[in-house]
Amino acid sequence: MEISAAVKKAIRYDVVQNILRHYECPDTCGAHCCSKGQIHLFEDELKLLTVLDPVKSGVINKDISPGLYLMNAPCSFLNETGRCEVYSKRPIVCGLYPFKVNTSGNSIGLQPCPVGFLIIRDFASWVMDSILKTGLSEQEKLRISEEWQRNIDSYASELTEFHFKTVLKEMQIPFDELEMLSMFLASTNSQKMSSVPATAK
Ligand code: SF4
Ligand code: SF4
Repeated sequence: MEISAAVKKAIRYDVVQNILRHYECPDTCGAHCCSKGQIHLFEDELKLLTVLDPVKSGVINKDISPGLYLMNAPCSFLNETGRCEVYSKRPIVCGLYPFKVNTSGNSIGLQPCPVGFLIIRDFASWVMDSILKTGLSEQEKLRISEEWQRNIDSYASELTEFHFKTVLKEMQIPFDELEMLSMFLASTNSQKMSSVPATAK
């Protein structure tokens, strides 16, 4: 199995795709992740891009560790209209964002970019919804709910001048909760959630 296929399986790539299909990136973001992000890719992904466009993939030139490469930013496959020219063949890191792989082996990171924040907000909604259905005391439910509200506020504050930040405070979501979030979103049968807080400039 190719390394990228093995990684996809390990990080629940399909579950992430099921989550991301509920969201839409706002035009105002200007494909920030493709123009400023750290875009790592595996050797088999680089080979595929090289077949698609040897010239554009030629600028991917940093061998940062054996078998791992880093695209120069902005990505050479981002066209003038802000679209990816290799969308169906894009590297894993692109298909995951705003989720990010970490090394824990049992969770995935989530960056609070405009879409990432919406996912965090919906994740908090699912957590609070689940808590309400438990037998916890009203006082405990209130405490947990207030704690989550503080969490949301803190991630929302990351959206202020988000384009100028090099590091965003990242949320970690355990894989089993990721699956639950995917089911929660599917059950709400939501349309694309594109309403992004006004602070995301
Ligand atoms: S909203 Fe997030 S995922 Fe979408 S283009 Fe902007 S930075 Fe990338
Ligand atoms: S390959 Fe496509 S999705 Fe990935 S960074 Fe480049 S333009 Fe963006």
